Amino acid sequence: LAKTRGNRYQFYVASVDNEIRERKRLERELSEALAMDQLQLVYQPQIDFRTGQVAGAEALLRWEHPEQGWISPEIFIPLAEKSDLIIAIGEWVLDRACAQLKVWHGMGFPELRMAVNLSAVQLKQTDLTDLVVRTLSKHQLPPQTLELEMTETGIMEDLQAAATALKAIKKSGVLLALDDFGTGYSSLSYLKQLPFDKIKIDKSFVQEITDSHDDSSIVRAIIQLGESLELQVIAEGVETAAHETYLIQHGCQEGQGYYYCKPVPDPLFIEYLRKSNQ
Ligand code: C2E
Ligand code: CA
Ligand code: CA
Ligand code: CA
Repeated sequence: LAKTRGNRYQFYVASVDNEIRERKRLERELSEALAMDQLQLVYQPQIDFRTGQVAGAEALLRWEHPEQGWISPEIFIPLAEKSDLIIAIGEWVLDRACAQLKVWHGMGFPELRMAVNLSAVQLKQTDLTDLVVRTLSKHQLPPQTLELEMTETGIMEDLQAAATALKAIKKSGVLLALDDFGTGYSSLSYLKQLPFDKIKIDKSFVQEITDSHDDSSIVRAIIQLGESLELQVIAEGVETAAHETYLIQHGCQEGQGYYYCKPVPDPLFIEYLRKSNQ
């Protein structure tokens, strides 16, 4: 191999090597960040279209790296999933989100809901239901104010295992939402067998609503599917008044996106909440 054109092969090895080392380093730093409380949650309002008020919040994780600045969860969540660090991170997220929700409930918004993202890896965790029940009781929260979001792709990886886990969690009384709906496998028959309360239309469809015929018909089809399966439907990635109008006209119940508010830290969320739910 060394005889292949000069230094090229060696260069290749060195760069792959670097990449692996870099990933390992980031992984270690992520684990330290968790231990040192350097992860943060931000919250994005979910708007009930009937009332125009905030019905809930989605908790989204943020990591400010000391040298690299903000690292996107699209990068560090997959990393955490590979190393099982996601289990500890997931526990931390659930605990922090529930603590925060309890505070908001105490501020005069007792019906507010918190949506927390669950990784498929967490679904395989044997004591997930236990964890959910323990965390709810630790923070003295009514179960129906907690909603767990899972992606379609994550569920389909191991449908049987997911179905069993979801049924167990559902018994605790929390709500279940299917995230990024429409982007994964197109088989819909499984939907009926899983105890979901809500589907979340992926933002890629919502954003094309006003100019793509295909995507607007997908959005309508998802809303109709929700109706016939008696599932709530929320749209993510609502960025304009035109998006909102279309969604409301076609019977979507809730919306979330930059049009209302970006994901923000607690004090700004409260400010938004007070303004819209007065
Ligand atoms: P997701 O669960 O689908 O979250 C929605 C993403 O869309 C968020 O990106 C949010 O900031 C962004 N978003 C919200 N409104 C708009 C909008 O109007 N337009 C556009 N273009 N984007 C919008 P974010 O916060 O970067 O999170 C990315 C992904 O990382 C999430 O996608 C989720 O899969 C994952 N993630 C974030 N926090 C957690 C967590 O605590 N646990 C797990 N397992 N995954 C998480
Ligand atoms: Ca989500
Ligand atoms: Ca989503
Ligand atoms: Ca997503």
